Amino acid sequence: MQQRHQLVRGRVLHFLRDPGEQDAADSFQYWPDGALLISEGRIADAGPYAELKARTNEALLAGAEIFDYSGKLILPGMVDTHCHYPQSGVIASFGRQLLDWLNDYTFPAEAAFRDPEIASATAEYFLDRLLAHGTTTASVFSTVHRESVDAFMGSAQRRKLRMLTGKVMMDRNAPENLRDTVASAERDCVDLIARWHGKDRLRYSITPRFAPTSTAAQLTLAGELYASRPDLHVQSHLSENLDEIAWVKSLFPDCRDYLDVYAHHGLLGPRTIYGHCIHLSQAELALMSRSGTAAAFCPSSNLFLGSGFFNHAEAAGSDIRVGLATDVGGGTSFSMLQTMGEAYKVSQVHQRPLSPLRAWFLATLGGAQALYLDEFIGNFLPGKEADFIVLDAHASPELEFRLRNRDNLIETLFAMMILGDERCIHTTHILGERIHARMC
Ligand SMILES: [Zn+2]
Repeated sequence: MQQRHQLVRGRVLHFLRDPGEQDAADSFQYWPDGALLISEGRIADAGPYAELKARTNEALLAGAEIFDYSGKLILPGMVDTHCHYPQSGVIASFGRQLLDWLNDYTFPAEAAFRDPEIASATAEYFLDRLLAHGTTTASVFSTVHRESVDAFMGSAQRRKLRMLTGKVMMDRNAPENLRDTVASAERDCVDLIARWHGKDRLRYSITPRFAPTSTAAQLTLAGELYASRPDLHVQSHLSENLDEIAWVKSLFPDCRDYLDVYAHHGLLGPRTIYGHCIHLSQAELALMSRSGTAAAFCPSSNLFLGSGFFNHAEAAGSDIRVGLATDVGGGTSFSMLQTMGEAYKVSQVHQRPLSPLRAWFLATLGGAQALYLDEFIGNFLPGKEADFIVLDAHASPELEFRLRNRDNLIETLFAMMILGDERCIHTTHILGERIHARMC
């Protein structure tokens, strides 16, 4: 059978490592007239257009599908490292802080996901929104119901997406209709892992909601599941809100701090990621770093719920893997562009402003590294899966005016993260195929 090839031309930017606070010049590659050569959904080559064309077999080029996006930016698909698809409908719900917000809005909304039709319709909506916003991989919470995982995984599989999700584990301090048990959680997780983990581009993530809603016995089960295979993931929440931290202390009096609860149950290490991580001690930061446990930085959610200001520069300086996250529906937008803008504002509170290059690193390769998926996605090195986005930096009158005669790379990246939105996402490609194009 003939191989499928694509040649994609445009302003190509990708990252090789964290640019740090000084924008290290060797941390990224940028070709103003660049190209990607894609074979069977994977990056075969990337570089300046003229050079790439000259070194590519002519017959191969003649048979390739051509996408000419000259003048537009081409970046790897963005990675949202923490979000909740069942909360798509409670985004923008007024008032209160974390624990009230969960009781008033989130739990009632999640109860509906026992119904496979509601779960499927919401998963379709959620994935449509992600792709329209240029997000091609996400670490996603489902609900306590196994049906919610089947719906999400099915929808992601049909679209050939690289996605993570898991059934929420929650056996106390939640409404009765949202509680599981140790036994039912074990049965459901084992079944769901067998059905979905490693199928096509899908991975299962063991998902205790957070320490207060699981008994010690259930957290022990979560740790045992994580250890049961070498490639399972873990996602949960950590140190988001001061009342939550005090509650954890009262529920687990023998643990030194919040992170120690997860450490105690074997839930730290590679492929584990915790949302928020705002109010951490130096000892907790050091343990996250040592264990390879990643943090998901959720700035719009943290501002919306008044939770606090994650110190990205400090976490990255402690060698912690950090990804950026919308935390929909505590977060206020599906847009990783707007999330980068909020991250910049939060970094200003600490007087260590997040540079545009570092923000775009976080949204692409940084997110892939935080999820330990960078062997597959995150940049355009040969062999990587060809999920990429095409960005139109002049998509709104405000951006057009702002960038007039100032269209260099750094200005463009920064203006898009402050002024940009879904209109900037011109096209989204998955494994080389164009699967979303802006309407106008
Ligand atoms: Zn969350």
